[in-house]
Amino acid sequence: MLRMEIRDKQIFLTETVIDIFRQLRQLEQQGNEKGGIVLGQISEDEHQILVCRASVPGSQDRNSRRSFHRDRKKAQQIIEHEFHNSGGKNTYLGEWHTHLAREATPSPRDIRMITRQFATNEIEVKFILLFVVAQKELFVGLFDAHGMSSVVVEAFSAST
Ligand SMILES: [Zn+2]
Repeated sequence: MLRMEIRDKQIFLTETVIDIFRQLRQLEQQGNEKGGIVLGQISEDEHQILVCRASVPGSQDRNSRRSFHRDRKKAQQIIEHEFHNSGGKNTYLGEWHTHLAREATPSPRDIRMITRQFATNEIEVKFILLFVVAQKELFVGLFDAHGMSSVVVEAFSAST
């Protein structure tokens, strides 16, 4: 379990999610960006967030070395599937994707994407988490009406 704090929230990542990020990292020049959505649970007081699911890329997603666009319909299906299979506990929490870099810094396009995602309210949420998975670092952003607050953790070793 990986634990971090952003503002008044504690965010917990299960090993399952960390393993998905670790295994799908872009370690080689020829790899494409990969990504998906993250799901989990928010405590009633909204101070604790458990991230326990991360979707893996599907054939409908469009990706290249420097960009990733997830498929909208597929994401909606995953959200519904997870909701039912967890007895209504797991809900949409945000987005994740890889970067071909050691350091995890969201691009201006990432910021625009998350801003738009929050504003259009495609999925009803009070905040959206953004995970940028680099080779060594993991960027964790919490985005809401106040903007983005974030932490960067050294979640992975450089080679494995
Ligand atoms: Zn990005």
